[in-house]
Amino acid sequence: MKCFVCNGEMRPFMEKNFGMKNLDTCEYVRCENCGLVIAKTLYEMPHSTWEALNHECHAAYQNTDALDIDPRWLERLKAQANVLTELINIGVLEKSARAVDYGAGDGKLSAFVAQNGWLKKFDAYMARPNENYLSAEELKPRSFDFVITCSVFEHLLGAADVEKIFALLKPDGVAAIHTLICEEVPRDSNWFYLQPVHCTFWTNAAMKKIFTQYNFKACAYHVESRLWFMFRDAAKVSLPQDFIVSDDFVDYWKVKPYR
Ligand SMILES: [Zn+2]
Repeated sequence: MKCFVCNGEMRPFMEKNFGMKNLDTCEYVRCENCGLVIAKTLYEMPHSTWEALNHECHAAYQNTDALDIDPRWLERLKAQANVLTELINIGVLEKSARAVDYGAGDGKLSAFVAQNGWLKKFDAYMARPNENYLSAEELKPRSFDFVITCSVFEHLLGAADVEKIFALLKPDGVAAIHTLICEEVPRDSNWFYLQPVHCTFWTNAAMKKIFTQYNFKACAYHVESRLWFMFRDAAKVSLPQDFIVSDDFVDYWKVKPYR
């Protein structure tokens, strides 16, 4: 098996037993070059099993408050909305931009952005609750000025899923990503991030590859909100001091990814 990011060789890395109806033992492999780790078992299962597993997880967690799993979730979500509000106010993101939260879930992020209705919502796994959600037909390639994904990249199943997201951007479009990106994925089956439906574990090196492949020219990381912004036009990037800016992907997290 080859790494879908850098074409390096994927080697056996570890296993974890979930003991679920649709997922017993999950096998993980790691790229010897960029360190990307994927859940081979999830990548190779039939799509119907993958969907059944997602439903199984949803049912298992629906009575659990999201705050139990991720205590900082709501606080971070508000910080993310505040950052977007600020970037719109200072003109880094335009008020007239076509913007979407890809994988918006219940749409809280959009609701917290001060500019009401600025951030449209899309979620492939939710029935469209109202017209504020875009339909799949409205997700035309190269039609968005801004695409944000929060806690989506760890659910992507390879290059085609990554392409689906970045293809939405206009040539000068801006992307924002929140996911866990570490220097090195720990070889620890008790690591909190090994959730049954987390299938792709990103490293700084893998993200640097993606950053270059998709022709981004500047990256800005905002620590409090845990958001990476990626720009095609570096000249436009004039950001407040609480952003870390680089002409390559900002590889901020070097420590072991435990919380
Ligand atoms: Zn790789």
